Amino acid sequence: TDLAHIRNFSIVAHIDHGKSTLADRLIQSTGTVQDRDMKEQMLDAMDIERERGITIKANTVRIDYKAQNGETYVLNLIDTPGHVDFAYEVSRSMRAVEGSLLVVDSTQGVEAQTLANVYQAIDAGHELIPVLNKIDLPASECDRVAEQIEDVIGIDASGAIRVSAKTGVGIPETLEAIVAHLPAPTGDANAPLKAMLVDSWYDSYLGVVVLVRIMDGILKKGDRVRMMQNGSVHGVERIGVFRPKMEKVESLGPGEIGFITASIKQVRDTKVGDTITHDKAPCDTPLPGFKPSVPVVFCGLFPVDSSEFEDLREAIEKLALNDASFSYEMETSAALGFGFRCGFLGLLHLEVIRDRIEREYDIELITTAPSVIYHVFMKDGTMEPLHNPADMPDLTYVDHIEEPRIKATILVPDEYLGDVLKLCQDRRGIQLDLTYAGSRAMVVYDLPLNEVVFDFYDRLKSVTKGYASFDYQMEGYREDLLVKMSILVNDEPVDALSMMVHRDRADMRGRAMVEKLKELIPRHMFKIPIQAAIGGKVIARETLSAMRKDVTAKCYGGDATRKKKLLEKQKAGKKKMRQFGKVDIPQEAFISALKMD
Ligand code: GDP
Ligand code: MG
Repeated sequence: TDLAHIRNFSIVAHIDHGKSTLADRLIQSTGTVQDRDMKEQMLDAMDIERERGITIKANTVRIDYKAQNGETYVLNLIDTPGHVDFAYEVSRSMRAVEGSLLVVDSTQGVEAQTLANVYQAIDAGHELIPVLNKIDLPASECDRVAEQIEDVIGIDASGAIRVSAKTGVGIPETLEAIVAHLPAPTGDANAPLKAMLVDSWYDSYLGVVVLVRIMDGILKKGDRVRMMQNGSVHGVERIGVFRPKMEKVESLGPGEIGFITASIKQVRDTKVGDTITHDKAPCDTPLPGFKPSVPVVFCGLFPVDSSEFEDLREAIEKLALNDASFSYEMETSAALGFGFRCGFLGLLHLEVIRDRIEREYDIELITTAPSVIYHVFMKDGTMEPLHNPADMPDLTYVDHIEEPRIKATILVPDEYLGDVLKLCQDRRGIQLDLTYAGSRAMVVYDLPLNEVVFDFYDRLKSVTKGYASFDYQMEGYREDLLVKMSILVNDEPVDALSMMVHRDRADMRGRAMVEKLKELIPRHMFKIPIQAAIGGKVIARETLSAMRKDVTAKCYGGDATRKKKLLEKQKAGKKKMRQFGKVDIPQEAFISALKMD
């Protein structure tokens, strides 16, 4: 295809504003997929994405569109994930296209991820087409939202296209606008091959599949290509495009987006953002690389049934094949036995992986407290990154500790602002900015990441009844008064429950933890002290009293069904418990104990 007839674009939106639905309509109305093959959210491949309604992997589709001027255009849409944890995937796919549809739900308005994503699009030099979606709903307020887009984002939204991705209203106008307003790509077919490695994933049938955007030159089947960053050379075995099913093509030229397979063993052997060129006639300079995504949240994953350790290893290795941003290494815990210390991009990423292990591999897991990476500066001048509070070195050798901070942007209706400020303040936040756009406030906070990883997002949603939106970026490390808090159950430290806390909040957290654990641990035949300690000093203590011999005794006589229920409950509880010394601790204790209310 000649360059003038190509348009490459992505869709940026806050979660639930209708990005996937709009993509479906664009695919359907152009006949890319026959109506009878159409299922909802074509681009959201994985089941878990469908269920949770989120898009995790960037997905691509090539659409042929016959415009009103009679010419046929190739439209390449790269779908991007909308959640904060996957911001890096957004930025990488943005670099492969020239424009974006900026989709805003006209019943809601601009939200935190609208902003985060639109700034990425602007950074990538995109032309933007504002789209107001969900105009079929009575609560739609297009004029107000268009004005808000102008106020908050600072782009002209007077010509915003009014769309219902549900009913199809405005879809023809959207397609025309893509052709009319987005720039065609540029590139030179005669220059040496320069292609961007946009994404890669493992396909059980094809092996590693690489998504590429050709900048210059022509890529053909059988070509020997070199990955410029790691120097590896591969023969191109298959080459094709997504419609959205894979379809073979002879070659890909400048401006085109497609896939190749090339006997690459692992996803890890491909570097997202790398430049692919011909081995024999390479281009001189690679494309500027992407910022690599690094795990920021760590936790231990242990099988509830220790005989499933090997199954867990296999599951984790398989998942990691397809997800280079997920890291793992073996871990042994005195309390939990063998497991893995895993690194994630954020809490959602953690939940997704944990869910998939439990669901797709049928392994029940104990998840330990999520932790961030602390920088522990030793008195001898060295720095040790600390991924696991259990590994905290002896305090006598420690000079100071630094923790990662984030810059969080929260948009919230006025009436909830007070609650949001209080929540941020409680989590050791420092307010950086507070502005208004219409009846919404936008606050920017500097927050310690460790105060956000447990349940910040859940709390934020609950104090604002779901009306707040949240986005963050990493801001670097800063020193603070951090200490390791250990939890002792029946005088034995439970390493999986130890955590790093701020000195000033340790007493409160310790108290909350032991009280929670007292509720979560069932009574035993003996008395169980539950303590929180810093170094050798106990800062909080509760005692779980001993159980009477007959568990059903407290049912006072008659009620047989209630007795039976109680016994059944006990039996079910048994399965999910782990023994610590002489004490059984239920699995949910490890997560629940850390939630702060
Ligand atoms: P995404 O998270 O941005 O991909 O949003 P989805 O496409 O998954 O849409 C979120 C929800 O809004 C789904 O329940 C859609 O059915 C619904 N939705 C999307 N577009 C429209 C629309 O134009 N009108 C109405 N009424 N609902 C829509
Ligand atoms: Mg979606």
